Amino acid sequence: MAKVLLFFLLFLPLYLSANGHIFVYHRFDDTRYPTTNTSIKELRHEFNYFKTHNYKVVPLIDIVNKIKAHEKIPDNWVALTIDDGFKTFYTNGLSVFKEFNYPFTLFIAVKYTEKKYKDYVSWKQLQEIVKYGNVEFHSYGHGHFGSMSDAEIKKDMDKGLALMKKYLNYEPNLFVYPYGEYDDRVEAVMEHYNFKGVFNQNIGAVDGECSNEYDLDRSALVGKAPFKLYLKFKELCGVSFQQPTVFPKNKIVKTVEVTLEDKTIKSAEIFISNNGWTRVKVKDGKILWNANKKVKLNRIKIGVKVKNKIKLMVLAK
Ligand SMILES: [Zn+2]
Repeated sequence: MAKVLLFFLLFLPLYLSANGHIFVYHRFDDTRYPTTNTSIKELRHEFNYFKTHNYKVVPLIDIVNKIKAHEKIPDNWVALTIDDGFKTFYTNGLSVFKEFNYPFTLFIAVKYTEKKYKDYVSWKQLQEIVKYGNVEFHSYGHGHFGSMSDAEIKKDMDKGLALMKKYLNYEPNLFVYPYGEYDDRVEAVMEHYNFKGVFNQNIGAVDGECSNEYDLDRSALVGKAPFKLYLKFKELCGVSFQQPTVFPKNKIVKTVEVTLEDKTIKSAEIFISNNGWTRVKVKDGKILWNANKKVKLNRIKIGVKVKNKIKLMVLAK
């Protein structure tokens, strides 16, 4: 009896916080674009790490199904995705996935393939790729949905989906926002398509009980990404971002206001793009911080972290 109790005491915290991880790659061994590239050497290093540290690389849909069923996702589950459909996945990356027998999901921006852009996979190559993994949807034109009307978004989506049906003969189940940009309005347009899962590009983890299947976090493994650190992250559940809710005027984030469901949290860290993490006080589950931080890009991330639990959101101009 004592042994059983000890077992539970030791493993309970692990069990309670079970989280999977979804990673996203873009280009492979393409040194022209260091910010979206992963060298094959680095890819092998990551895959060997997964293999020797008991990580189980599962099809992305398995994670989505766990979330839909509100079931715990084992801590050692990892799903691998590749965005955009760059040719270097076919020429350089695919053979390594095959060698390790790792399932993958490739999200294509259909226009690049349809118009035969030279850096992208062809329909013929995609027809071969689907023998080894999943090919899913990443819009037709890879536009900034935040600045497109509902009708423009629908037109783009319908065009891309029809071409996937024509060349690959199925309807995709999974979708990734172009540039990882979305807001409530864009999310509402997506509901019309009945995808099983929709993914962003925010660093984080996926929790079977609190993740939203229409807004799932993926951490990018580009350059020399700290993937071991990413594997330690858990999703911070029960976060509600209250301010800012739109891209800030003059690119200055004035006030950050966040509510946390867990009222026992006393301290957290807030992330603002170009400004790193800042420690802030939490009172009765409320963070109210006069940040006054300048951001540089037209797409910014704001995040909150409590120990190794993390949640980010994106605001696009
Ligand atoms: Zn993309």
